[in-house]
Amino acid sequence: MIVVHNSHECDVLVIGGGPAGSTTAALLAHMGRKVVLLEKDRMPRFHIGESLLPLNLPLFERLGVADEIRRIGVYKPGAEMVSDAHGTATKFRFASNPHLPVDHSYQVQRAEFDKLLLDNSRRLGATILEATRAREVEFDVGERTRITATGPDATVSSLLARHVVDASGRDTLLASQLGLKRTDKIHGTAAVYGHFRNVPRRDGDDAGMITVHLFEQGWLWMIPLTDGIMSVGVVGDRAFFKHRTDDLNGILARALAASPSAADRMAKAELIRPLVATGNYSYDARRIAGNGYTLTGDAFAFVDPMFSTGVLMAMSSGALAAEAINVWLENRKAGERLLRSYERRMRRGLEAISWLIHRINTNVLRDMFMSSIDMFDIRNGVVAILAGDFYEKRGLFSPLRRCQLAYGVLYGLSKVGLRLRGRGLTWRSTNSVKSTDVGDALGKGIGDFKWAINEPEGIAAPATEAADGARVQAVDSAA
Ligand SMILES: Cc1cc2nc3c(=O)[nH]c(=O)nc-3n(C[C@H](O)[C@H](O)[C@H](O)COP(=O)(O)OP(=O)(O)OC[C@H]3O[C@@H](n4cnc5c(N)ncnc54)[C@H](O)[C@@H]3O)c2cc1C
Repeated sequence: MIVVHNSHECDVLVIGGGPAGSTTAALLAHMGRKVVLLEKDRMPRFHIGESLLPLNLPLFERLGVADEIRRIGVYKPGAEMVSDAHGTATKFRFASNPHLPVDHSYQVQRAEFDKLLLDNSRRLGATILEATRAREVEFDVGERTRITATGPDATVSSLLARHVVDASGRDTLLASQLGLKRTDKIHGTAAVYGHFRNVPRRDGDDAGMITVHLFEQGWLWMIPLTDGIMSVGVVGDRAFFKHRTDDLNGILARALAASPSAADRMAKAELIRPLVATGNYSYDARRIAGNGYTLTGDAFAFVDPMFSTGVLMAMSSGALAAEAINVWLENRKAGERLLRSYERRMRRGLEAISWLIHRINTNVLRDMFMSSIDMFDIRNGVVAILAGDFYEKRGLFSPLRRCQLAYGVLYGLSKVGLRLRGRGLTWRSTNSVKSTDVGDALGKGIGDFKWAINEPEGIAAPATEAADGARVQAVDSAA
């Protein structure tokens, strides 16, 4: 083992080369700062989080990668929500909201996307050390922070930085080390996902839409990617994952059995890489920044991915953090003010998304999404939120406020037995949809879905997630 001391001294050391880390490193290097970024894997590597939002596009322009993203992405005109329980599908098209500055986004294979962003930060002047894992962060070493890292061949390096950015994603290196991490105990969900071929896309212009298939205990996503690949995953609540001993194939099959519309599309599906599981969903850190460090992206907070918000939040947090840190390096007080405003903005976004996520399995919110009645113009509100417009201060008629207003009215009506269904209000003696209603309608057993796995070449599977064959207890214990 070789030990190298002070192999790098820099202004800013970034831990993690995902979208948050690459954005922070690229912008700070462009501002003339000496930046070193450590990434524990080698790119390209598999990562989940493939559906992007329209408000990502201005950030791509700013980073100078807009043309390259267009080249590797599938054009995404909006999102579709399908509910078998309601017997309807609703399409939310970005172009239908005249207030949005951008009318589309992209679906991307993260292996390609993350490599592209990381290469771009290298091009803009950041030093990138791949296959190098940050192990420990030691504050107050003089005016510096010391980061110990293990590189290829187990080489250990000690690096000194004026400021450390944690962009280590769900590994949450600093939030865990500093005891800042809080998990959302109420909204415990987990996911199982993989890449498939032979899953039909929607017709014509809608071919690039993400589809969310709702079922009683969760939802499935279908994201059309390049090379004829469909990313398919299930997010389930605690009840869905509880006390089951299925393997990951069995879990996905159980979700499909609860969603006939998704099962139909998966009838000839062929799995091309082992399924992966992720548990223990939502969390945040009690602080976003401290003396000499800043958290960005998933290293700060994570919310359920239903609205595909993760990459936009990671990149916009990286951009805001870069501006604040650049000032902090010259003037601590002014930088700290900017970091506080960065924290307020991020929390505003998280609260907006969490409000919807916490209610997505309720009949009232699902009725609002699936009904053809557009109460308080919520359709445009939902499109704005799905486009990534969730950071602004909430005025009386902001997208989220309109959703909350409609929700409040419909919640009150549900208490006297009225529900919004189809084109109007109907009386319902019960508020719940039984899972057997949809399962029986499918007429398919869980065992009917079995996929042969063809391993793709050249892209490493994620090291930190549970691969297929792991039992559902792995998800349970994490969730
Ligand atoms: C099931 C699921 C579905 C999702 N779907 C979507 C979606 O459709 N759209 C969307 O926008 N988001 C989605 N997300 C969220 C999205 O994946 C994340 O929000 C996004 O990747 C966060 O980016 P990041 O840069 O913060 O972290 P990451 O992308 O996770 O990057 C962190 C990087 O840090 C590296 N790293 C970790 N520890 C260390 C260390 N000690 N030293 C060096 N490097 C380290 C990792 O290797 C990784 O490359 C989904 C998430 C899940 C779990």
